[in-house]
Amino acid sequence: MSQYDLIVIGAGAAGSAAAYHAADRGLKVLLLEQFEFDHGKGSSHGASRIIRFSYNREIYVRMAALAFSGWRSLEEVSGQTLMHRTGGINFGPRGEPHFEAMIDGLAAQQIPFELMDAKEGAKRFPQFRFDNDFEVLYQADAALLEASKCVLTHLRLAEQSGASLIQNAAVTSVSASESSVTVIASGSTYSADRLIVAAGAWSNHVLRHLNLQLPLQPVRCQENYFEFEHLQAYEMGSFPVFIAHLLSDYGYPYMPYGLPSVNGSGVKLSLHGGPPINPESPDRTADQALVSTMMAFAARYLTSPVIKLLSSRACLYTMTPDEDFIIDYHPEYHNVVIGACCSGHAFKFSNLIGGFLVDMATEQLPKFDLDPFTLDRFSLPDSR
Ligand SMILES: Cc1cc2nc3c(=O)[nH]c(=O)nc-3n(C[C@H](O)[C@H](O)[C@H](O)COP(=O)(O)OP(=O)(O)OC[C@H]3O[C@@H](n4cnc5c(N)ncnc54)[C@H](O)[C@@H]3O)c2cc1C
Repeated sequence: MSQYDLIVIGAGAAGSAAAYHAADRGLKVLLLEQFEFDHGKGSSHGASRIIRFSYNREIYVRMAALAFSGWRSLEEVSGQTLMHRTGGINFGPRGEPHFEAMIDGLAAQQIPFELMDAKEGAKRFPQFRFDNDFEVLYQADAALLEASKCVLTHLRLAEQSGASLIQNAAVTSVSASESSVTVIASGSTYSADRLIVAAGAWSNHVLRHLNLQLPLQPVRCQENYFEFEHLQAYEMGSFPVFIAHLLSDYGYPYMPYGLPSVNGSGVKLSLHGGPPINPESPDRTADQALVSTMMAFAARYLTSPVIKLLSSRACLYTMTPDEDFIIDYHPEYHNVVIGACCSGHAFKFSNLIGGFLVDMATEQLPKFDLDPFTLDRFSLPDSR
């Protein structure tokens, strides 16, 4: 049986970052991933993710400051460009509560931003068409992260620092005592002093072996990439990332958002949420009604005609009831740390959270108050 300091389950954004930080700190690390690295069945693959300060909760504004510098450090260490400053806009009807809270959050943390009315917004960002009663917030630091490249960079650097990375190794059994964990994956048994569970939508499949079930709900979301007639105006370098604060009054069950085309990927237009899904379901075919919804969104709020859909594919968010993350120790085993980096907005923080998970696994105090992410905010069922 192979013996490690730390085993990480899951090579998504969180697990890959944790493996990197742990190996970088000199731990003997094993990372196990049930599918191939950078597979498309979870939440961390693809061309792009938004990183932004514009949150309606101060904690995330503060975390974003640390996350931006974490990605910059990773770029320096790896020699790779991972983050592209695009600027970001949020728009919606004046007085929308989420929007107003975001303005307060940015102001409280002294993050610079510009607020403008619809007319000024359309002048500054001619790619958009805003309703007269909209307000538009521009935050110049918002950026796009090349998602798959970030995950693969973490993995590559982890391996260079001596981590063992095994793909197509589904963990089917986990047992723990106060000082050790034993994991079985693809018929092999591995042991370590500590464990980090970063299994995304499958977290409860793993944690049931340790008598724990979290209030997580995987939901089906969909990435849609479109080709626009005025292509250049919607490419990275010209087009900001954006979030539209438009919900049921405008016919959207979840907020629409978008990102520029990256290396010919097409402009990404999606909704921030979706209906419940079983992560084991093999069906990842696109919902055509959702494609039509996003085309109608483009026709109403973007000025260039859409030429065609380039690609569309279902993928997963894993939601907590309050949409905050779960970063905590297992209630019974202090050497097991859980990173459920979920609710459709954790990618930007994954480099940072990976470091927190390793801090916790090695009994160091993370340099950030993680109280909002602890398990005791939920009443958990006794799953024994
Ligand atoms: C379409 C889309 C757009 C998004 N946009 C943004 C955005 O703009 N900005 C942002 O910050 N966030 C965004 N997010 C959210 C963000 O990408 C996720 O929160 C984050 O990637 C989750 O990472 P994770 O590592 O927790 O989970 P995952 O990526 O699901 O990784 C978990 C991994 O664990 C593996 N695993 C599970 N069980 C086992 C097992 N038993 N044995 C071995 N391996 C196992 C899985 O195969 C998987 O690879 C978006 C998500 C999606 C899907």
